[in-house]
Amino acid sequence: MDPLQLMQTLDITNYSDKQSDIYLCGIVHSHPLGKAIPSRYDINDAKNQKLKTSYLIYSVPDNELKGYIWIGNHFEEIDISIV
Ligand SMILES: [Zn+2]
Repeated sequence: MDPLQLMQTLDITNYSDKQSDIYLCGIVHSHPLGKAIPSRYDINDAKNQKLKTSYLIYSVPDNELKGYIWIGNHFEEIDISIV
């Protein structure tokens, strides 16, 4: 997602507008050619936007889904389960 589009989307969620009834529960995206680990773009976006939210990253080549949370200066992997 382009950064401007991401910011416009965030603006209508409770992340930016506490009165909004659209709840940001995380950011989900795929890495079509890479591992399910945060890329340098993910890290830069999280740093620049100070997004304290969860990230789900799916690796297409590895068919693997991993979860992370940005904790201010780095991503920390979190346990996820699919039900
Ligand atoms: Zn990514």
